[in-house]
This record gives sequence, structure tokens and C-alpha cells, in this order.
Amino acid sequence: SGKWGRAVAMVREFEKQCGAPIAKLRQVADAMDVEMHAGLASEGGSKLKMLITFVDNLPSGFVLFNPTIPFSQGLTFSALITLCFHDRDEKGIFYALDLGGTNFRTLRVHLGGKENGVVNLESEEVSIPPHLMTGCSHELFDFIAEKLAKFVSSEPEEFHPAPGRQRELGFTFSFPVRQTSISSGTLIKWTKGFNIEDAVGEDVVGELTKSFEKIGLDMRVAALVNDTVGTVARARFNNPDVVAGVILGTGTNAAYVESAHAIPKWQGLLPKSGEMVINMEWGNFRSSHLPLTPYDQDLDLESLNPGEQIFEKIISGMYLGDIVRRVLLRMAEEADFFGDTVPPKLKIPFIIRTPDMSAMHHDASSDLNVVGTKLKDLLKIDNTSLQMRKLVVELCDIVATRGARLSAAGIFGILKKIGRDTAKGGEKQKSVIALDGGLFEHYTEFRSSLESTLKELLGDEAADTVGVEHSNDGSGIGAALLAASNSQYL
Ligand code: ADP
Ligand code: MG
Repeated sequence: SGKWGRAVAMVREFEKQCGAPIAKLRQVADAMDVEMHAGLASEGGSKLKMLITFVDNLPSGFVLFNPTIPFSQGLTFSALITLCFHDRDEKGIFYALDLGGTNFRTLRVHLGGKENGVVNLESEEVSIPPHLMTGCSHELFDFIAEKLAKFVSSEPEEFHPAPGRQRELGFTFSFPVRQTSISSGTLIKWTKGFNIEDAVGEDVVGELTKSFEKIGLDMRVAALVNDTVGTVARARFNNPDVVAGVILGTGTNAAYVESAHAIPKWQGLLPKSGEMVINMEWGNFRSSHLPLTPYDQDLDLESLNPGEQIFEKIISGMYLGDIVRRVLLRMAEEADFFGDTVPPKLKIPFIIRTPDMSAMHHDASSDLNVVGTKLKDLLKIDNTSLQMRKLVVELCDIVATRGARLSAAGIFGILKKIGRDTAKGGEKQKSVIALDGGLFEHYTEFRSSLESTLKELLGDEAADTVGVEHSNDGSGIGAALLAASNSQYL
């Protein structure tokens, strides 16, 4: 019928607007490279904050033996022979706190030093009550401190610190922070559904420590890190070829290892290593080359942070499902896609979450019954035909593919910035990008599109020198490693 044709035309139009052909991706990568330079040149010089992290001496157990050990076996590093080329041996019990999405985690990590890596790890995940995400600062930090104290109280006696010694913590706080040292920094702004006004401009470690003191929790924050930085640290520990870490989870961001003299805005002493990890805050990237649609504009306008985090809003897990919802809603309104009435549930923001979208996208059944069930369970839409379901899957594919290809372009931009985008004559220098986050980990179609697009951008020869790996739990283990390398005792 005419209505069906109209629905199909709407999907085609959307597909065209989302198009990210390789030439466009190269423009995006070039723009990323340009913005990186600008952000490093001066404070406020770019939409990319290019934050100095004070991580200039990465923990680096250097695996000599069996470097291909999968990360999932990260707890059995003890079999490996390792060699360390910096002056510390990360050893002992360290705590980590991972805050940056809808859940936060507390971790207790037993580090065995150069030889043994991560000996043991215990963790607990707590979901953050939504009212704390938009309330006042002390309520959130008090809540976190209380949960952490409870976790600490389960510590086995053998791990109790010696009398007079403090427990040490790596605090992964995955929002834009202007660091003043490895263990302090002020919050620039909230992202990803958080909006706690009185915390902006405050030292987040100071706030957390205040909450510790209120309940008598004696713990020192040894390192304040972004999850991307934890990911770099964690991946570098195993593999010295790691040059960058990228998070694709609720939000998206990247950090990479920059040479210290390429940071004109850095006023301090040059680090001994000659390197500094830079937290790009790439979620705030934007460029006229980004393929944006009217649906993205509406999503942005109705968000907690309009005008901000545009790259994040077309790539990351918090938003992809809602883009699909917005297109379906318009199809229902303008082409009666679901019949004469618009399903009321379809008007509820974020009712289609990215894991739902991914489940529909990956539906391999011949009648697309996963899609049918999702539409029924989430939106109370019954009796969808196979051709309707197919169109829904196509929509998921369009949205995921755009996000994945733009992520690849961002990574290619970083490689360009550090001169690792081409295979230099005969040199076999490897570059590894460590990736983590629920979107990358679980959304197979997204991940494979990202990987193949990056290969396409690099070309055959350079693609052989660049690797992408899943760096498991950088935000937890990486933070513990950085706490250890900044310990007051080691
Ligand atoms: P965070 O980014 O909050 O630290 P994660 O790295 O665990 O947390 O990522 C969680 C996000 O990953 C979710 O918000 C969701 O968007 C996405 N995600 C989780 N599971 C899936 C899935 N099966 N398919 C697609 N996306 C997923
Ligand atoms: Mg995380």
C-alpha cells in the first residue's frame, strides 16, 4: 500500500542521511586530527579538551612469554614471565572504584607484581538510584562511600593493612575532569545522564574523601583516572605496543599516549618517560562532516546536555536505541507503520535500550521472532509482519553501522595524529588500540563493522601493523594498577 511505501521511503531517506562512505570518514579523521592539535595547543582551543592526565609512567609488566594469552584469563598471569621497565613493582592489595555509567563497582585487586600480575580480583556492582544522578553532590558521594565501606569490611584478615598504613584506591571517574595532579581534579561537566550541579567545579577526590571521613573510612585516593586511561594502563601492562584506549559503553571516549613535547599547553616539567597519556574527551567532538539527521537533532535538544557530546550521541550505547525509537515513532505517526494508532509506549524516551536494539539486530531466526517479541514486550505492539520486522532490523543496522564507522574514523584520526596510520618503509612497528565497554563487548555487528572499517581506512599494508584488542576491565584493574604505581608505600 501507499503507507508501506511511505515507511520504506522514510527508512531509505534516513539511511542516506546516515551515510558514512570512506571519503567522509577520512574527512572526519582529518578533522579529529586537527582538533587534537588545537586542544593540545591551548586550553579551550578545541571542542576536544585533550586533558592532561598526569599519567606519565605507565605500569608496565612486559610480557615476554605467551603474549597471546587471552584477557579472559587475566587472573592467571602468574604463569607468565614478565619484565618491568619502570621503577616500581605493583604489588599488594589495592582498591578501585569505577563510576561512570548507570552502575558503579567496587573492586579489591591483589597485585602480585611484575612476575604475577593480577593474582586475585573481587568486585561488586551496585546500580545507582536514578535520583542520585541528578541530586546533590554529597548524596552521591555519601552513597558511594557507604557501599565502598561495606565492601571493605568483607576484606579477608590476611589482607588487612599493617598498623598505621592506609588502604589505597584508584578512583575511576569517567566524566571530564581537569586534573591538578594524579590524585586530584575538578569536574568540568557531567555527561551520560548525570547532572549534579553543585559538583561542577569541585575537586571530586576532595568530595569523595569528605564522604569517607564522615563514616570513618580510612582510605587514600592514590589515583584519579578516566576509564579510557585505566584501559590504556591495563592494556599496556601486558603489551607495550598499546598506544590508545577507547571506551564504547554508555558513553564513548578515548585516551592515547602522546609525546610530552607535542603538548604545547603543558606548563610543567617534562616527564622522565617523555610521554603523557591524554584523555581526549572525544565524545564532545563535532564536525560539519558528521552525518547528522533530524532525529539526532531532536535527541540532542531533548537531552540533559543540549549542544554537547554530539559524537557520543550518535555512537554510544546510551543513545543508539533511542535513535531507532525516534525513527520508528515518526514512521508510526507519518506512515501508520504500526497501524491506525501510534503505539503510546513508542513515545517514551529510552524505552528501546541499545541491548534491545542489538538483540533485534542479531536475530537470526527465519521469522525474526526476537524482533517480534521485543516489539510486543517493550512497546505492546502485536502482530507485526515479517516485512515490518525486516525493516526494523534494517533500521538497527543503519544506526549501528554509522556509529561503528564513525568510531573507526576517530581511531584512525588518533593514529594519524601520532604518525601510526601508515606502514613506514620496512619498519614493523606495531600499534595496538585497546577497546572496552559494553557496546564493543556485546554488540557483535557494531564491533565487526568497526574493525572492518578501520582496516579499510588503513589499507592492507598499514592494517598489518595495527591491532585492535578487547582490554577487559581497564576501568577496574587499570585503576588498581595506577593506584599501585602511585602508592605512597611502593
Ligand atoms: P559503562 O559505560 O556505564 O561504564 P559498560 O561498559 O558496561 O558500562 O557499558 C554499558 C553499556 O553498554 C550499556 O549502557 C549499553 O548501552 C551497552 N550494552 C550493554 N550490553 C549490550 C548489548 N548486549 N548490546 C549492545 N549494547 C550493550
Ligand atoms: Mg565502564
